[in-house]
Amino acid sequence: MRAGEFELINKIRRRASVGPEIRLGIGDDCSSIVVPPNYELLTSTDLLLEGVHFCLDWTDLYSLGIKSVAVNISDLAAMGAKPVSLHLAVGLPASFSDEQVEQFLNGVFAGLERYEVTLAGGDTSRSVGPLVISVTVQGFCHKDQVITRGGAGVGDDLWVSGTLGDSGLALHFLQSNRPLSAFLAARHYRPEARAVLGQRLAIENLATAMLDLSDGLSGDLRHLLNASAVGARVELERLPLSNEFKDELQMDQSLLDLALCGGEDYELLFTAKPKMRDSLEQLSVAINLPLCRIGEVTSTPELSLVMANGLIYQPRSSAFDHFGSTKDRSRE
Ligand SMILES: [Mg+2]
Repeated sequence: MRAGEFELINKIRRRASVGPEIRLGIGDDCSSIVVPPNYELLTSTDLLLEGVHFCLDWTDLYSLGIKSVAVNISDLAAMGAKPVSLHLAVGLPASFSDEQVEQFLNGVFAGLERYEVTLAGGDTSRSVGPLVISVTVQGFCHKDQVITRGGAGVGDDLWVSGTLGDSGLALHFLQSNRPLSAFLAARHYRPEARAVLGQRLAIENLATAMLDLSDGLSGDLRHLLNASAVGARVELERLPLSNEFKDELQMDQSLLDLALCGGEDYELLFTAKPKMRDSLEQLSVAINLPLCRIGEVTSTPELSLVMANGLIYQPRSSAFDHFGSTKDRSRE
């Protein structure tokens, strides 16, 4: 038997720290956030559905709680915003025990602490179906520093953080009943939002356009190119790949598609003027996160994935298909 909703909300409220920007947090009809002068409040919402975005046979609830926070913080990072508050709405299956709810909340609070975000409100309900998680995050960005998808210019360099395809490779392993290494499990179950990188790019005015990679490089890059009305040339031999990914790729070249279309990388993809190369390399060292220049922005409005031999590569899959679902899971 699970605790009542009021008891649950009180429990959550007791655990929620309140940051200085939150005038009113959990407990009133609305939360209230004080936006500093000359800053904008950026907001993003994400829906995570059991059976579509995650599978409880494969993930533990603690990791799912952390991930629910991280994937939303990633959207704030993608525009250069500093995360401030998070609202959480959950539909909990009637079959869930108090312990299961606790495990999920422990993960959520670990995520909140990790990114120094206040849980400022939300809602809970019993779900007659699967677990439903809706997270809304808000953050601040100086009004002159917000990085949109629409600012890429012809001749800009194309950059990506971290490594690509690890989460897709993990899912591929899970689907083939292969065990995951600690590295792949972390990349898949507990992705790290690039919050510091996003903010530094904004504050130091280093990027012209940006987004986070949730659906895979090839699909997400097209969103950026469309928004900026430009094209791009990506050199595949430059793609940043982990050692584990490279080892698998040696045995099966078709796995390259996971780095291009695998989804759930939660790395930042951004464009920058070539004169910013030194500054970006310094930033990479300063925040201890690899940044890799993978191509350039072109005037022809198409995306060319160029192989080492100069030929154009065509990925086999163009969209990430989680659990065989046909639901469009592209995220804003
Ligand atoms: Mg996004």
